[in-house]
Amino acid sequence: MHESNHTMPKFAQIAIALPIDKLFHYRIPENLSGEIAVGQRVFVPFTNRRVVGYVVGFSDEAEVKEVKDIEGIIDKDPLLTEEMLKLTKWIKDTYFCSWGEAIEAAIPSGIKKGKKELGTRIKGLHTGPEDFLITGKHKPTEEQSKALKSVIETIDKKEYVTYLLHGITSSGKTEVYLQAIDHALNKGRQAIMLVPEISLTPQTVERFVSRFGDKVAVIHSKLTPAKKFLEWKRIKDGKASIVVGARSAIFSPMSNLGVIIIDEEHETTYKQDDVPRYHARDVAEERAKLNNCPLILGTATPSLESFYKAKHGEYKLVRLTKRIDDRLLPKVKIVDMRMELATRKKIAIFSKMLLDAIENTLKKGKQAIIFLNRRGFSTFINCKKCGLVLKCKRCDTVLVYHFEEKKLVCHYCGYTQTPPEICPKCKSGYIRYLGLGTERVESEISRQFAGAHISRMDSDTTTKAGSHDRILGKFKSGETSLLVGTQMIAKGLDFPEVTLVGVVSADVTLNIPDFRSSERTFNLLTQVAGRAGRGEHAGEVIVQTYAPGHYSILTAAKHDYEKFYEEEIKSRKELLFPPFVNLVKITVRARNDELTLKTAQNLSEAIKAAIPGPGPGINSGPRARNDGTLLVAGPAPAPISRMRGYFRYNILLKGKDRTAMCALLRKVLGSFRKPHGVLIAVDVDPISM
Ligand code: ADP
Ligand code: ZN
Ligand code: ZN
Repeated sequence: MHESNHTMPKFAQIAIALPIDKLFHYRIPENLSGEIAVGQRVFVPFTNRRVVGYVVGFSDEAEVKEVKDIEGIIDKDPLLTEEMLKLTKWIKDTYFCSWGEAIEAAIPSGIKKGKKELGTRIKGLHTGPEDFLITGKHKPTEEQSKALKSVIETIDKKEYVTYLLHGITSSGKTEVYLQAIDHALNKGRQAIMLVPEISLTPQTVERFVSRFGDKVAVIHSKLTPAKKFLEWKRIKDGKASIVVGARSAIFSPMSNLGVIIIDEEHETTYKQDDVPRYHARDVAEERAKLNNCPLILGTATPSLESFYKAKHGEYKLVRLTKRIDDRLLPKVKIVDMRMELATRKKIAIFSKMLLDAIENTLKKGKQAIIFLNRRGFSTFINCKKCGLVLKCKRCDTVLVYHFEEKKLVCHYCGYTQTPPEICPKCKSGYIRYLGLGTERVESEISRQFAGAHISRMDSDTTTKAGSHDRILGKFKSGETSLLVGTQMIAKGLDFPEVTLVGVVSADVTLNIPDFRSSERTFNLLTQVAGRAGRGEHAGEVIVQTYAPGHYSILTAAKHDYEKFYEEEIKSRKELLFPPFVNLVKITVRARNDELTLKTAQNLSEAIKAAIPGPGPGINSGPRARNDGTLLVAGPAPAPISRMRGYFRYNILLKGKDRTAMCALLRKVLGSFRKPHGVLIAVDVDPISM
């Protein structure tokens, strides 16, 4: 910012949403002198185009000789507050994007193009409920009181604290959120509540709306840009003081936040998989610090990172150990499918135990949820004679057979083809359909239980608008008694007539080669098990697996998070994964395999060379910093080594100091000569490999 009171600044520092990590200098023309302010959007010329720029500072000198003029101001009042500028700068510094890209992630899509006051023309659009019933609060239980007392104190003292609210399902977490928000509102402050995905949490949203009425703004990805903007405007104008929304709602334009809440904090949807690759939990932490307010992370299955921080005092751990209604958690039985295979001499989809349980449930007029985290019919097709497995033409992935469409589909790029009748390689006619997806489970159940009403919910059956609600509606009304589905049905659903949950295979997530596969398996099993026995009838859960001794499965069956944590943290420590280090994943991709590998090798070498001096590292890596804080691994082919025609290699950095690690990488990338046609993506704290 300029310091002189006498002379107006000559130049503005402008952020532009391009993948170039620098600010651009533009001259402030005479006619705009005194009218340019930090946080404003302006039009600037950029390589023969006119683009939107964001003013982030001033300067009395320009870094280049031929400075161009700012062409015009888009909004007189700055769009971005000082807080938003700080937050987006933090994002740029942390997640390898430009400041402009970070800013555009933080504002509604409707105004990115430089449009003015988009919303004012769409009068009459009102997204809040017309007739709402303000429902009362519950008298908090002893555990809830304790949690609330602490949070409320923090709100009143205007302090930053992150709370990890660890509570089993139905222990009253949501009630704690509601009352904490109520308190913040009474103090004239506002609240943000993040949920993993709005469409999967209708019941939670409902409760917020019925408690707070039209003070609530609901923001989700399916809103049209116009509606999104309108909600954004309602918040900015102070008409809505609570936001309920998915990941990007963390950027809601509140001016005086009193509390931020992240429900189901362990969910991977909080990490954006595109530039900027931010984690909403970390952004929320920054925002809570900027606002001097508490951040509450609620979950029944904390992420390893969060629980570790809570154990080491960085977060404050608050526990809710009892269910509100004192209802017991459902009993979980594990079926060893290896035994099933030995006694029945064939690979069965359903064990006898699960079949009997389904039959029983139907007889009693109750409902069951059958869970398998894989869609499609047959998950791979091979030739019995030559062994060929049919793969995608553009990706290194196997094609999945979809019965309804009679097509082979690549789940990564959407490529489809008609299944061949003869082997494309050896021309034999022995094509086999193997592996198991939800479509097959559904068809198998209807074969075995003729007359049973089944519906299936996965991303194949929910592409049309409203299909989601339709499927759940039928299940709720009892029109269907069996619901088959992927992880879409694992979360949040509350159907009192469901007395049985069957997990067709717990091994799907367990076998994914990723350091989080155990954690994901535990989370999914815990969540899906929580769908059973929510009414007055006790619930039963049957889990089929070929790995009945795995700690993820054993501890999930006992609803024992702490035991799971104990086991998993040992392995993270031994293999040097988060929370013991931060990871940075660098993906190099290009259409030419050799060029991709060569570039990745060069980059890896350049990073290693930039590490000040070889020496014993935090692991037995080839080269690490002397102080033992950085390790470079790879390049190695990505788990999916080719995608959409691009070959992909990963370099993985493991470091104890994220800031130092990123600074080093930034320096290396700044001078790295990248061949034409090669793309490099950096993912800080990646969610998967
Ligand atoms: P969670 O978010 O942990 O799953 P909820 O807050 O949804 O738990 O509480 C479960 C149920 O118990 C809800 O129907 C809620 O309205 C009710 N409930 C929560 N707290 C109380 C309380 N203190 N007294 C009575 N009912 C409560
Ligand atoms: Zn063949
Ligand atoms: Zn593909």
